[in-house]
Amino acid sequence: MKGNFSTRLTHLGEKSPKSVSRSKTIPISMTSVFVFDDVETLDKVYDNEEEGYVYSRNGNPGHDALEEIIAGIDEAEDAQVFSSGMGAIAMSIVANVKAGDHIIAASVLYGGSYTFLKQELAKFNVEVTFVDVVNESIEQYFKSNTKVVYVETISNPLMEVIDIKDISELTHKHNAKLIVDNTFATGVICQPLKLGADIVVYSATKYICGHSDVTGGIVVADRDNVNKIRNTGALYGPMMSPFDAWLLIRSLRTLELRLKKHSENALKLAEYLEKHEKIKTVYYPGLKSSSYYEVAKELFNGDEFGGMLSIDVLDGERGAYELIRNLESIKFVPSLAGVTTSVSYPVKTSHRALTDQELKKANISKGLIRVSVGLEDIDDIISEFDKALAKI
Ligand code: PLP
Repeated sequence: MKGNFSTRLTHLGEKSPKSVSRSKTIPISMTSVFVFDDVETLDKVYDNEEEGYVYSRNGNPGHDALEEIIAGIDEAEDAQVFSSGMGAIAMSIVANVKAGDHIIAASVLYGGSYTFLKQELAKFNVEVTFVDVVNESIEQYFKSNTKVVYVETISNPLMEVIDIKDISELTHKHNAKLIVDNTFATGVICQPLKLGADIVVYSATKYICGHSDVTGGIVVADRDNVNKIRNTGALYGPMMSPFDAWLLIRSLRTLELRLKKHSENALKLAEYLEKHEKIKTVYYPGLKSSSYYEVAKELFNGDEFGGMLSIDVLDGERGAYELIRNLESIKFVPSLAGVTTSVSYPVKTSHRALTDQELKKANISKGLIRVSVGLEDIDDIISEFDKALAKI
């Protein structure tokens, strides 16, 4: 290449090598913007006469590839990626409400979603009614201005399985949209769109990633809903890095395998913990003794119930603190869904923002530990809990 030093420094390498072969994997388009040969071509792309990328906040080939895969898993028309689960949740809700509207939400939710619904939406004059959707019908809470119903497939941290079919019927009867956070289940275990949900949201940081190294979010829905949320997202701007999209594409190839093993291990651990004298309650929908077993069997795709369970340790707060301290390879981390087993303590992590009264109402006790069951040999996981519990 000709030109002076600084010119060569800024342009060299732009011509990609010529090759009759091509990359086996989807390449990363690590670019914030795209080049056009002329104004006419740019015009055609802006006017939707030609397909093309303009700016990565609005779209990137890596996003598209990831969206195609996740839409395929959930059997949806379209998907949109975001830089975090909260980005996906916030954009889905904001795209569907305006000042003066009303939302019905489950009272047991991931703490961030609960705080967003309670605090942020109040600033925009959107009213939210929190309902114990497991024990109460939502029907009586609809108002003429109810636009959204928001629930989680498997609730965080009590692993309640919500009857999405029933809730979607009521939601549609009242002309509202049902948004379901399917983070704990993933499309391998449950496909909420098939059960009547309008929009499904994910913290891709969890099982979709599966290796604790990416923060991401995804929305899955029909084309109209995704377009609306995509346009809102492009204005607020919580976009995913093309590199993270590439990592998540790689992660998704093993989603089914991982979820099978997570579920298999979680069931065995839940069965062991259920019989342990130092555990008051085990919350896992795959246990035959769980009050959610039947509804999970009906709504889930197969015989897998996911890798998440919670336990109420005897002796409450003291017992929980000790168990966390006594575990060795099983780390205390305020997240979930990695390859290794980990524990979290909801009252101090995911649900930290809740007042004592709110925690009590949501049935989240100070003895509650959430377990993300990993892919290790199950005998080793059980043996570590056994030793740690014996020391309490
Ligand atoms: N939904 C659920 C069920 C979660 O557990 C979390 C995070 O823990 C989120 C949403 C938020 O996702 P992110 O941390 O990727 O923003």
